[in-house]
Amino acid sequence: MDPVEQMRENWRAKAREVGKEFVAPRASEIDAKGVFSWEIVDEFARCGFLRLLIPKQYGGEEGDITSFCLIVEELARYCASSALLVVVQAVGTMPVALGGSEELKERVLTRLAKEKGLICFCLTEPEFGSDAASIRTKAILEGDSYRINGRKCFITNGGVSDFYTVFTTTQPDRRIEGITGFVIEKGTPGLSVGKIEEKMGIRGSNTTEVILDDVRVPVTQRIGDEGVGWWLMMRTLNRSRPAIGAMAVGVAQGAIDYLTRYGQQKGWFTKKEIPSPYLLEMADMMVEIEASRAIVYKSAQMMDEKAKGIPVQMFSAMAKYFASDIAMKVTTNAIQMLQWEGLTRKHPLERMMRDAKVIQIFEGTNQIQRVVVAHNLLKR
Ligand SMILES: Cc1cc2nc3c(=O)[nH]c(=O)nc-3n(C[C@H](O)[C@H](O)[C@H](O)COP(=O)(O)OP(=O)(O)OC[C@H]3O[C@@H](n4cnc5c(N)ncnc54)[C@H](O)[C@@H]3O)c2cc1C
Repeated sequence: MDPVEQMRENWRAKAREVGKEFVAPRASEIDAKGVFSWEIVDEFARCGFLRLLIPKQYGGEEGDITSFCLIVEELARYCASSALLVVVQAVGTMPVALGGSEELKERVLTRLAKEKGLICFCLTEPEFGSDAASIRTKAILEGDSYRINGRKCFITNGGVSDFYTVFTTTQPDRRIEGITGFVIEKGTPGLSVGKIEEKMGIRGSNTTEVILDDVRVPVTQRIGDEGVGWWLMMRTLNRSRPAIGAMAVGVAQGAIDYLTRYGQQKGWFTKKEIPSPYLLEMADMMVEIEASRAIVYKSAQMMDEKAKGIPVQMFSAMAKYFASDIAMKVTTNAIQMLQWEGLTRKHPLERMMRDAKVIQIFEGTNQIQRVVVAHNLLKR
């Protein structure tokens, strides 16, 4: 096996083992209680999942996007909330790795790689989610620091992070060209955590408001130049959307794994009709899961090969929206197959269905991904 393939296989095997042995036994309780698990953070930090995309020179693993997707898929088979930890850590660090100064990288990436620290990605605001170009959180340069005011909402790990990657506007009239990113450290005066969201799905993930009230941030904590924030954010999301697609594939695969075990126990597949109607329905599901998987790993491969002349953004968007729509369909149908039993907490399928619903919404709604694909169609 070539060394890159070997590296990917090692990550997949590690994630499969950790998913099965460590995450699976905790998944149901995390969901029922809606608690954030520091035990899982510790385990993921120990395995290297939380420093996966950080370059080696800062103490990271320098993994690729395919490995990222493999890890997320394997973990999401058991618990989407836990898989999201890996995604958010990557999404928070990527703008710094892509565009931060050497000094900022040394300070943030090295600390995250060597310690257990968490980082979050703060873009969404109460009035601006899909329309990210209109964000209002404002950063004003005063001497050698910026004064930042604004409010972010629905921020994953907002209440548990050590670092906050925050997108602001430094020139609101310039829209996307006025967007500038910063890294702000926990404990900085004026930075506080607001409401903690009670969600229907991905309940083991901490989702909060982040409030910025006259926060003073040195110029050295700006990510790249003023006005490059949009570009950094889009490059980050193009790399993370395949992983969100992989999370959806994992959830759907988890549902079909469960159905298979359940069906075998109930004797679904030993009826006289060959093959049984249950099995035929599961065959349809499996085809759709494999189609999702194919598109997810194609988009990841494009990122890893830095494909030129191909609209990688379109494939990332397709991966996210196709795979999450399929996860929604598969989990809903799986519940239907178990009938009333499927609605109960005795089985993980209702949790998987609630998690799939969230995947259709975050990291850019599926409607927005459809718009991205539509725009790219015209460019082809
Ligand atoms: C669990 C969870 C975790 C999240 N974590 C983070 C995070 O860590 N960081 C972060 O910054 N954000 C995060 N978000 C926010 C998420 O990315 C936004 O919810 C999402 O981008 C949609 O924004 P919105 O909720 O403001 O909806 P809106 O943008 O107000 O959209 C409302 C509806 O209109 C549709 N719509 C809007 N514009 C268009 C259009 N042009 N064409 C077609 N349809 C359109 C949308 O699809 C949606 O159905 C998270 C959300 C959730 C649910």
